[in-house]
Amino acid sequence: MKIHEYQGKEILRKFGVATPRGIPCFSVDEAVKAAEQLGGNVWVVKAQIHAGGRGKGGGVKLAKSLDEVRQHAASILGMQLKTHQTGPQGQKVRRLLIEDGADIRKEYYVAALTDRATQKVAMMASSEGGMDIEEVARNRPTAIIKVFVDPLVGLTDAQARELAAGIGVPADAQAQAIDTFKKLYTCYMETDASLAEINPLILEGGVAGKAGNIKALDAKFNFDSNALYRQPEIVACRDLDEEDADEIEASKFDLAYISLDGNIGCLVNGAGLAMATMDTIKLFGAEPANFLDVGGGATTEKVTEAFKLMLKNPKVKGILVNIFGGIMKCDTIAAGVVSAAREVRLSVPLVVRMKGTNEDLGKQLLAASGLPIIAADTMAEAATRIVAAVK
Ligand code: GDP
Ligand code: MN
Repeated sequence: MKIHEYQGKEILRKFGVATPRGIPCFSVDEAVKAAEQLGGNVWVVKAQIHAGGRGKGGGVKLAKSLDEVRQHAASILGMQLKTHQTGPQGQKVRRLLIEDGADIRKEYYVAALTDRATQKVAMMASSEGGMDIEEVARNRPTAIIKVFVDPLVGLTDAQARELAAGIGVPADAQAQAIDTFKKLYTCYMETDASLAEINPLILEGGVAGKAGNIKALDAKFNFDSNALYRQPEIVACRDLDEEDADEIEASKFDLAYISLDGNIGCLVNGAGLAMATMDTIKLFGAEPANFLDVGGGATTEKVTEAFKLMLKNPKVKGILVNIFGGIMKCDTIAAGVVSAAREVRLSVPLVVRMKGTNEDLGKQLLAASGLPIIAADTMAEAATRIVAAVK
């Protein structure tokens, strides 16, 4: 699950990480009021969407008067903001963040993330802040420094110092940077994040002879959805406007659904079998329209909802049902498939392959339904049949 920058900064502040002062807004008038309330004479007007690269796309603007705050707020709010992370259709801006303008001396990058290769949390930092980190990784990989954290010890002072020194934080600001890195690690762990990224982390201008402050100017979080049950404060930050409508619908029925670009809808039980099914479709020369795992305890209602969801996608030209009956019984799925096919008046070819518990009973139910269901015995046969049917 993702959240907005202003929510991310609230979380960072809770863990003691310094950020500029800011106020989230939903209208132009609110934005001007927020700037007045903050005071000062430089503000930043920032589009709040669940995607990065907003600066380049025109979603982050500096304002030097309240009039400019009004102008920028009016142009950004409601715009269809396109960044490299939104896709070509962009994302509509519905919220703004008005912040104190920061005096930037240097921009850094820092993130805590799950590293699958080492099965540890990696803390990553770079002197090349403010830019797209993928680009830095491609062009200047040596400008990225990583440390891997022992879960029993946490991020040590020595590791945090290695990061701070490695990215060139001036000596008089290193203690602040080390403190910030350790707080970011704690924040990552305690919120069950899978990514906590500050880009840029800045060193402020400061006055002669004295280091400026280290502050988080941006905040990006991803949270592990399997841990949301114990993170009510994170769940409260959820913004459904930013999420895929079909995936939200699926989650209501406890279906794991992800829309893809192909034309064969797949309904499978178990994530591993669902992935194998998608691979098999590809192997036989077609593309899956979705990933859909109905889980181990699918009921007739759940299967019906799954069919409705797949058929909402106009690209779907055929459906492949691939079920392994373990705890789940094949006749339950068969009854669900028959009732769903009737309820949605299924008009595309449907191939069903089922194996395991009560397989024969399931096949009898399908055959007796009188529906034009194409039966298949092996995965190869099922894939061959559905690919032929859609071509
Ligand atoms: P992103 O493009 O979506 O990652 O949005 P960011 O929050 O990272 O903002 C993009 C860039 O805008 C930053 O890298 C900064 O260079 C600039 N920026 C953001 N806030 C301020 C600010 O308060 N003062 C100044 N001078 N620049 C800012
Ligand atoms: Mn950023």
